[in-house]
Amino acid sequence: MGNKEIDFIICGGGISGLLLLNALNKDSFFKDHRIVLIEKETKNTNDRTLCFWEQNSGSFDSLLYNKWSIAQFSSDELKLEFDLSPYNYKMLRSKKFYAQYYAELKKNKNITLIKAEIKSFKSEDNSSIVHTDKGSFISKFVFNSIFNPKILYNQKKYPLLQQHFIGWFINTTKAVFDPEKILFMDFDIPQNDLTRFIYFLPIDSQNALVEYTLFSEHLINKVDYENGIRDFLSSKGILNYTINEVEQGSIPMSCFPLEKLNTTSLMHIGTAGGWTKASTGFTFMNTNRQVSRLVEFLKKDKPLNTFKTISRYRFYDMLFIDVLSKHNGQGSKLFERMFLKNSPLTIFRFIDEETTFIEELKIMSSFTFKQIGWFLKALLSRLF
Ligand SMILES: Cc1cc2nc3c(=O)[nH]c(=O)nc-3n(C[C@H](O)[C@H](O)[C@H](O)COP(=O)(O)OP(=O)(O)OC[C@H]3O[C@@H](n4cnc5c(N)ncnc54)[C@H](O)[C@@H]3O)c2cc1C
Repeated sequence: MGNKEIDFIICGGGISGLLLLNALNKDSFFKDHRIVLIEKETKNTNDRTLCFWEQNSGSFDSLLYNKWSIAQFSSDELKLEFDLSPYNYKMLRSKKFYAQYYAELKKNKNITLIKAEIKSFKSEDNSSIVHTDKGSFISKFVFNSIFNPKILYNQKKYPLLQQHFIGWFINTTKAVFDPEKILFMDFDIPQNDLTRFIYFLPIDSQNALVEYTLFSEHLINKVDYENGIRDFLSSKGILNYTINEVEQGSIPMSCFPLEKLNTTSLMHIGTAGGWTKASTGFTFMNTNRQVSRLVEFLKKDKPLNTFKTISRYRFYDMLFIDVLSKHNGQGSKLFERMFLKNSPLTIFRFIDEETTFIEELKIMSSFTFKQIGWFLKALLSRLF
């Protein structure tokens, strides 16, 4: 690296690291900044399918694999179909994302990509040091996207659930899917005391991604996710298909204040920074929003631990996770009430943290007396 100072070090060239790097790269304010990205892997696979909703066109449109404007929600007592307008539900696959973002960074001589395994970080007075198997690097501003789940496991104050799933990209012998409609959440499957649903994204009339998903504390046996997918498909009369690709994931759902681990010169970003929406596991768009705010913040040259990421929505999420962890078998009923009593678009805006307080009160009043009792109990145990 020579003796020149590194302005920013980004640890982990996955989704949040690349979103941050790209935002810095595109902003002329940082054109003379020297940035180092440290990533241990060659990122060139479809290791994740990233979905999000967005109004109109957006900056990821050239990367999209598909998008939809109609969605369905289903539980044993509620079947809803809704127009997503003005939103579209958008899907991109990571291989194309990585290819474009890595190609862009290679064009800028001020950005250095180091393929190395990070071993540890150390914050000192005005800088942080990143120790890797290829040497150590120091900067006044270090961003870390390497998530350490032990931090969440080694505490009891904030329950940890996971959004965990196995998904199959399937191809059927006949045209059986309606390519216009996604199944956002289908809880009309055996719950067996856990919050379980099917997430279904048709690519065209013969291809689809179908995921068996849980919001629960522990992973289940692989065969149980697979049987869940098979049972769902056979309940729809879909028996003849091939599985072309498999994806698997486990996303932490916790309100642990990960931002408290930030120092003046080290900030945790992406899932590692608590940018995963605890109540849903959605991370991608939230990370993109936080990155935009962060880039403006960095222009002010302030200590990294003064970057604010929390809002009243963290409190709602915390109560929701408290309730869901205690009454995990009732998750489908909580979501059912939300979708029964509110417009799905309001729910999307709520998840995006864009609702008014009045709308939030209305969402809270959607629940049954019994469910409200659970939330009150969670609130009281948080307050006293
Ligand atoms: C299969 C899957 C599907 C998902 N789908 C969605 C979705 O549809 N919508 C949504 O909003 N969110 C989704 N998520 C959640 C979230 O958006 C992703 O997990 C996203 O990748 C989080 O970005 P990140 O930067 O925090 O972590 P990552 O993208 O995992 O980046 C971390 C990077 O750090 C690197 N790294 C790790 N350890 C080291 C080390 N010691 N040294 C150097 N480098 C290291 C890794 O190789 C990786 O590239 C999904 C997650 C998974 C796993």
